[in-house]
Amino acid sequence: MTAIKDDFYDTINGDWVQNATIPADRPVTGGFIDLNQDIEDEERRVLQAIHDGKQVAPDLLKEFVQFHKMTANWQQREADSVQPLVDVLKPLKALKSWSDLQQHWSDLIQNAYTTPLSYGVAPDFKQADFNELWLSAPQLILPDTTSYADDNPQRDILLNVWRDMIRQLLLATGCDQEWAQHIVDQALAFDRLIAQYKMSNEAASDYWQLYHPKQLRELSQSVVDVDLKTILTSLLGQTPEKIIVSDQPFWEHANEVYRAQHFDMIKAWMIAQAAYETAPFLTNELRILAGTYRRTLTGTAQAPDQNKAAYRQAHLFFADQVGLWYGKTYFGEKAKNDVIKMVETMIGVYQQRFTTNTWLTQETLRKAAQKLSALTIHVGYPDKLPEYLAQRQVDSTQDIMGNIMQFAKAAVAYSLGQWHKAPDRNIWQMPADLVNAYYDPMHNEIVFPAAILQAPFYSLEQTPSQNFGGIGTVIAHEVTHAFDTNGARFDEKGNLNEWWVASDFENFEERTKKVEQQFDGLMIGETKINGHLTLSENVADLGGLSAALAAAKQDVGFDATQFFMNYAKIWRQKAKPEYTAMLAAMDVHAPARLRVNVQVKNFDTFFDIFHVTEKDGMWRSPKDRVQIW
Ligand SMILES: [Zn+2]
Repeated sequence: MTAIKDDFYDTINGDWVQNATIPADRPVTGGFIDLNQDIEDEERRVLQAIHDGKQVAPDLLKEFVQFHKMTANWQQREADSVQPLVDVLKPLKALKSWSDLQQHWSDLIQNAYTTPLSYGVAPDFKQADFNELWLSAPQLILPDTTSYADDNPQRDILLNVWRDMIRQLLLATGCDQEWAQHIVDQALAFDRLIAQYKMSNEAASDYWQLYHPKQLRELSQSVVDVDLKTILTSLLGQTPEKIIVSDQPFWEHANEVYRAQHFDMIKAWMIAQAAYETAPFLTNELRILAGTYRRTLTGTAQAPDQNKAAYRQAHLFFADQVGLWYGKTYFGEKAKNDVIKMVETMIGVYQQRFTTNTWLTQETLRKAAQKLSALTIHVGYPDKLPEYLAQRQVDSTQDIMGNIMQFAKAAVAYSLGQWHKAPDRNIWQMPADLVNAYYDPMHNEIVFPAAILQAPFYSLEQTPSQNFGGIGTVIAHEVTHAFDTNGARFDEKGNLNEWWVASDFENFEERTKKVEQQFDGLMIGETKINGHLTLSENVADLGGLSAALAAAKQDVGFDATQFFMNYAKIWRQKAKPEYTAMLAAMDVHAPARLRVNVQVKNFDTFFDIFHVTEKDGMWRSPKDRVQIW
């Protein structure tokens, strides 16, 4: 039996970790994931009751139920066999030449094909109330550019699994061996080319490094073989003058990627992408085959069964509608008011801390308080959905893929239609039935979907100290994002703007550097943690714990033990080593165990209540403890 003094996380969660079983069709269990599983079970129960005629489908679920009938109709899926994939591949296979691709590029994008021209329409970092066109770099097969290093033993194993999977998917369409082999070889060669220039996840975790506005003329000159003006004009209906590049290192080399002589590679890469994206919606055998790479990457033992798959595939396209129904059905006014009160308490704590802060000048603190006051709070579920989702309808005359292509096309049209408009701040980026929360620096807003408001995060049966250690730390974590290493660079309107007194910002960075060092190089099994990649989230955790603890202390029945113990409990997790390794390469969050053990050691209260001394594993000397907010 471990003691709290030696390993806090293990003492609280050790028995649970020992006994927990990771479901065969998942790479991880515990905390957020268990709650998501409960919600999925409940939604599937309701879905079944509707299909059995025991319950009438509520309006918000009607189309979801219709689409689920399609995803669950395995007989039809077997009968359709590979034909939907053959149809999807047709326009790609028909591409004859580079100039042919130039002509069809915008059509392909509008028809929701994944092309190597990765784009998005999103707020201008320096004018957050105005949407611009952004260009980035294509997705890689492996989790990160660093995964392509010669000394990564997993690289070739994973790429070979991907190669085999795509080859088999293509062979299923009746093509010959040689062609399938050619496609995977060329697609992999193009992937390797992208990996040479793309930003690493670590570099991209610094948002302010992602802002490079360009003139169309300038950008066109950097890709001489691409008819960028014609493609973008066709997409937007107007010629854009300004385009924002997020992945500058990649675009500096774009001319070496988007070349006429790479036509074969690019065509093959698009064919591979389309096969990978389409196959999950075909027969059961092809669905399972299409999950091979992902399962290997995450260490997942087996594919979900057909019933689960049918539910998840339908949910994928109706998550916002189902989430809205979930929020309206399960999240009452009482809970909403409770949470809003907690958020206001936390903001009050922050305001208070700004007035007693000793390491920042009044000028910076005044602006920080301004940003805090301007923070928008969303709780429970959104007031509305984007039009294209609210109106999404299933066309019963078409098959699954026909419907999916329509859904995807509508999503592309919606996104492109947002260009040069003001972002709609009532639209959420997360469905209400997802156990999660977020801060958006461009909107200076925090969002708490209904799903996260459950035990052990929050329950009326828990003590206030437990709730502060649970949902309190989550709320304060999101508030802290407004002042983490990314949030600190955006002002109260959501614009990238240096609002700090310069010397204050230096002090801030000195402190955040210490947080980076606390995490950098720590090991979880064989996996090394990147302190820079996870910095903004670790700063948010530290501030979250700090503000929630301060708020909890205001309660007459405050119990520090309960506070810290529930904090450890919300992060209990058991994951496959492959999954941990994958996240370490791409996730901005530190692994659950470190979010507990590394963070609590920054709090004097923790050492006091558990009598931790320099002889103990959980010790950290006072000079090495960090507090920022
Ligand atoms: Zn966060």
